[in-house]
Amino acid sequence: MQNYRKRAWAEISLDALAENVRLIQEQLHPGTEFCAVVKADAYGHGEEFICKKLYNLGIRFYAVSSFEEAVRVRRWCPDGEILILGYTAPECAPVLAQEHIIQAILSEEYARELENYLENDPENNLKLKCHIKLDTGMGRIGLSAKSAQERQNVIEIMQKIHALKHLKIDGIFTHFSVADEPDSKNIAYTARQKRSIIRAAQMLQEKNIPLRHVHFLNSAGICYHNDSETGSDSTLARAGIIMYGLMPNSALAVPIPVKPVLSFYSRISHIKTIRPGDCISYGRTYKAEITRRIATVTIGYADGYPRALSNQGEMLVRGIRCPIVGRVCMDQTMIDISRIPEELEIQPGEIVTLSGQDGKASITADDIAGLCGTIGYEIVCGISKRIPRIFIENSRIIHEDHLI
Ligand SMILES: *Cc1c(COP(=O)(O)O)cnc(C)c1O
Repeated sequence: MQNYRKRAWAEISLDALAENVRLIQEQLHPGTEFCAVVKADAYGHGEEFICKKLYNLGIRFYAVSSFEEAVRVRRWCPDGEILILGYTAPECAPVLAQEHIIQAILSEEYARELENYLENDPENNLKLKCHIKLDTGMGRIGLSAKSAQERQNVIEIMQKIHALKHLKIDGIFTHFSVADEPDSKNIAYTARQKRSIIRAAQMLQEKNIPLRHVHFLNSAGICYHNDSETGSDSTLARAGIIMYGLMPNSALAVPIPVKPVLSFYSRISHIKTIRPGDCISYGRTYKAEITRRIATVTIGYADGYPRALSNQGEMLVRGIRCPIVGRVCMDQTMIDISRIPEELEIQPGEIVTLSGQDGKASITADDIAGLCGTIGYEIVCGISKRIPRIFIENSRIIHEDHLI
């Protein structure tokens, strides 16, 4: 196996991950367990090594979004709980039960479909743990539980589910929709969402339906809605984006000093001087007004480097910010390196930081997202398969993708 020089790569700091987990755990109330959200290939960071590290850190609750993710995470995390947050085809129910995976329940009909597949399975004593999803205002999935009337209805449905032979209700949960923008209206909305689920939990207790878990905190909830009065009612904190060191809302300071786990790098392939009037890239959207030094970087939108950064973004070379000129292409992008002193003698092969720290300068996925009108989540999840992830622990490479 030969390790050739890479055109672009992402470095994943498992040390930063460990520190972020520690900082977040410090913020949790005693009754709240850390639940690592590792869906979407651990937000593009690489599920296997993120999960193995979390497992070594003692994390024993994981959340994912699909059957395939859950079955894979079970390989990296042989014990502990794995919760599928959304829909799974009901045919999967027997495997879920065998693998001790918890399934979210989205509706009464869905519960019955799961029950049917479990009932008809040759292994007839299968039990599937489930967490009932309540829709308290997100409007995505779950049993509607906003009003007292709706909550009453939820209790009746849950009593029916409780009576099913193969489903075991282990908890209820809900998801916040505006926790990341805590202005007074949204604070009130989130507080109503919390009250709805806490009230539903009380009503279930009165009906003798025991719940091991009642949970509602996501990253924004942990940051902005984790007061000791109601935050402590969440038995799990479903930490996604802040665990990876990005912000639920990049316009707002996060009260936890987490650091980005992922850094993204590429290289310069070609350098030239252009004269006034010369144009760069498709559409000739950039035209030099004066003489400029232009470097081509081996990164493009096929790598998940957004085309929306055309004539907008910056990259770091030797700690100096270099603006993107012209349109981002599929595999290549041009930057203006005129600000870099000649005597530094930048050559093809030079490393370019797309996101990460370089000297005193840094660019985060949140910064990139801001320029593209999106959120940091979409940037890290969008880094494509073509980009090898290199995992670093104690300043050493412990794994590298795509060796050939
Ligand atoms: C993705 C997801 C989370 C994690 O969200 P973050 O904002 O990344 O913390 C938590 N709960 C549910 C239901 C989710 O779908």
